[in-house]
Amino acid sequence: MKAHDGMYIDGGWRPATGPDVIEVVNPADEQVIGRVPAGTAEDVDIAVRAARAALPAWAATAPADRAARLTALRDVLVTRAEEVAETVTAELGSPLKFSQNVHAAVPVAVAGSYAELAATYAFEEKAGNSTVYHEPIGVVAAITPWNYPLHQIVAKVAPALAAGCTVVLKPAEDTPLVAQLFAEAVHEAGVPAGVFNLVTGLGPVAGQALAGHPDVDLVSFTGSTAVGRQIGATAGAAVKKVALELGGKSANVILPSADLAKAVNVGVANVMSNSGQTCSAWTRMLVHREQYDEAVELAATAAAKYGDRIGPVVNAKQQARVRSYIEKGVAEGARLVAGGPESPCEQGYFVSPTVFADVTPDMTIAQEEIFGPVLSILRYEDEEDALRIANGTVYGLAGAVWAGDEAEAVAFARRLETGQVDINGGRFNPLAPFGGYKQSGVGRELGSHGLAEYLQTKSLQF
Ligand code: NAD
Repeated sequence: MKAHDGMYIDGGWRPATGPDVIEVVNPADEQVIGRVPAGTAEDVDIAVRAARAALPAWAATAPADRAARLTALRDVLVTRAEEVAETVTAELGSPLKFSQNVHAAVPVAVAGSYAELAATYAFEEKAGNSTVYHEPIGVVAAITPWNYPLHQIVAKVAPALAAGCTVVLKPAEDTPLVAQLFAEAVHEAGVPAGVFNLVTGLGPVAGQALAGHPDVDLVSFTGSTAVGRQIGATAGAAVKKVALELGGKSANVILPSADLAKAVNVGVANVMSNSGQTCSAWTRMLVHREQYDEAVELAATAAAKYGDRIGPVVNAKQQARVRSYIEKGVAEGARLVAGGPESPCEQGYFVSPTVFADVTPDMTIAQEEIFGPVLSILRYEDEEDALRIANGTVYGLAGAVWAGDEAEAVAFARRLETGQVDINGGRFNPLAPFGGYKQSGVGRELGSHGLAEYLQTKSLQF
């Protein structure tokens, strides 16, 4: 795999200030596929200074010019889609087809949506005797995880650039190669020097230095709740804006009138895709007691069909973490109906697609984010009970409702404490605001709501 041994700063690849490197490992065969520099606080500082220097000129560009750069970026991502897919497969482990259809394709749609929004967004509006300007917030620190490595980069960088902000990106240590490929794409798209900068490195070193840098105006973070809390506290102390996209424990609520087989099969596929490493995955399936046994059987059959085709999880630590959750589920009395803690392959960080029945709402596996291919099926008595269970976690990122009648599903969905709900298998929409209620986060990504995160208002009175 191609790997740069420098940082992309101020329009070019420059040597890192320190000697340390991060080894990138293919989780399917445990082989080292590349090395990238582990950035220091000094690298971060150089990148932030480049972003600060580039800000006035980029903020002053006409929205149409920023739209043109984003269109060019989108086009490069189209041209290089196969390379993106192969890179994500190599460093994340997802099957190539999934990398092509999701990891490479979704960023194209999101970049395209921001090219369009940059050209059409009302950056200026009238309010009574005032003119309100929506101005770029400034220098953005983007800190991203590994589970949808390019999507999460584009979901921050594209709206930031559309808004007129400049960016320093610190991608996850497990997936830096697609971030380097993205930097190449930004360069090819003719984005001016310093507008986008990349520093690879470890979270507690480069990430922490970036999140706490005094010359950063907004920190946009996606990842674990523990780190998000820390970043929020640091930003709060500095009176700095943050956007946090954290974990989830979303409910898939199957109401009695729903098409049970469809709801269960789509629900299992949702949890198993990307090896369960999706923050918005519907990891709790809620089924009425009268349909419970049938749903469990359907889910177990569906999960068993996946085998090792879902791909490994990202690294040994995640594999151990997911397997310990499975053991905990067994220890707390849940009933394994598919999968289990044993790895299905001798090599690679694989976890068996796992389904638990007889899960009760207070069990650890029903409360904590596992981030692996593990589904919990819970039984409910009536709609009020289903609602209580669905809303009974600290999270509120996503969810699903299935019913025979769309209006019935919508009425239930409106009572869920969560940022997104898919109705009867509704499709992903790159324009819909994505983000969490409760401890799932602060702020929204995607579409015009995602763009607004990178803007601040100035009102002129006449
Ligand atoms: P993480 O929060 O440690 O890492 C996410 C990003 O933050 C990475 O770029 C990392 O380098 C950086 N980071 C880590 N420590 C930092 C610090 N002190 N200051 C600044 N940046 C820092 O997440 P992880 O270890 O990769 O995954 C752990 C768990 O987080 C997962 O099991 C899962 O539950 C959750 N997770 C959630 C999402 C999501 O999309 N919501 C994504 C990935 C992981």
